[in-house]
Amino acid sequence: MQNYKINMCLMTYFLFIIYISPYICGMSLLEDKNPNRTPLSELGEFGLIEHISNNFKLKNKTSTLGIGDDCAVIDVGQHFQLVTTDMLIEGVHFDLTYTPLKHLGYKSVVVNLSDIYAMNGLPKQITVSIALSNRFPLEAIEELYEGVRLACIAYNVDLVGGDTTSSTSGLYLSMTAIGEVAKDKIAYRSGAKEHDLIVVTGDLGSAYLGLQLLNREKQVFEADPQTQPDLENKDYLLQRQLRPEARKDIIQLFQAKDIVPTSMIDVSDGLSSELLHLCRSSSTGCAVYEDKIPIDFMAISTAEEFNISAATCALNGGEDYELLFTINQSHYGLIKDDPGLTIIGHITDKSFDSVLVTKDENRQPLTAQGWNALI
Ligand code: ADP
Ligand code: MG
Repeated sequence: MQNYKINMCLMTYFLFIIYISPYICGMSLLEDKNPNRTPLSELGEFGLIEHISNNFKLKNKTSTLGIGDDCAVIDVGQHFQLVTTDMLIEGVHFDLTYTPLKHLGYKSVVVNLSDIYAMNGLPKQITVSIALSNRFPLEAIEELYEGVRLACIAYNVDLVGGDTTSSTSGLYLSMTAIGEVAKDKIAYRSGAKEHDLIVVTGDLGSAYLGLQLLNREKQVFEADPQTQPDLENKDYLLQRQLRPEARKDIIQLFQAKDIVPTSMIDVSDGLSSELLHLCRSSSTGCAVYEDKIPIDFMAISTAEEFNISAATCALNGGEDYELLFTINQSHYGLIKDDPGLTIIGHITDKSFDSVLVTKDENRQPLTAQGWNALI
């Protein structure tokens, strides 16, 4: 038995050396048959996803839409089923020095549900998978799941499964949300048409500024643990960062007003990045007006404190979880008086590119400088 164990260990070691190590450290006992090593930063997150998806063609008739939108779309007969998944990693997506675990549990559900709403659907179930190190006591996990439970109540979804495993360091959270949408009500990223109005819900940039505040106070605290955090009158920005909400109410509004957006996406990576996704998927261009972008007054004053442009926070910040959608101009009357909806521009022909019209009337090409995991 002992020999068997030693042999197994040796075999695992050699398999690692031969097959795995060439890819992660570029060395091998065997000659490297594939000397090309393309840094992932060359592709970026979206380039990598596209690269992966090129090698997978859908085979099943029920797989209506695969990679490329906020959710996968599955034809289950009467309606479409929507599936989306997101992963949150300690040290990358959240910092437990200032993130209460209950808020983290809540946020990780909300982030997923936002993608279901982005298809004009309603979420029904979630699964939650966690990997944790022995640094976490039971009480910490109870706190995390209390946040998950509160989100399940607020959004009327059921926790129906998941997975639990250990990690060598830190906390990993992976959530999957399942939802449904009537076949004639689904909103893809790809349906925008020339002359459609571009509309965004709520306001943008606040979550990013909330993060800047938390990071600033963390640094101050690390330098001098006696200081009290200076976060007075910043509640809204902190709430937007630590405990965001998904726009369930907008889906209800669409239902009530009998509107089906021609295209839709949620704003998770910054307005610029999402506009480019919509235009690319729809094969269009767009013109968006900087002075129309909705930004909360607290975000404007805080951006000034940090000496950064509030518009840049809205365009490139991310984590707003608002909805960005396009509608036919004939629907203008249905939305024009809603203070929670802002028309920020219009869709143009592809030949016009995607541009930001600045306050001084310059036309700048939109660029996605938003969050990029692989730089
Ligand atoms: P979102 O910001 O809406 O969550 P993402 O940018 O994460 O969307 O993903 C865009 C699309 O790419 C989605 O359809 C998603 O399912 C798919 N996707 C992302 N990562 C992978 C991966 N590693 N393998 C397969 N599909 C992926
Ligand atoms: Mg999304």
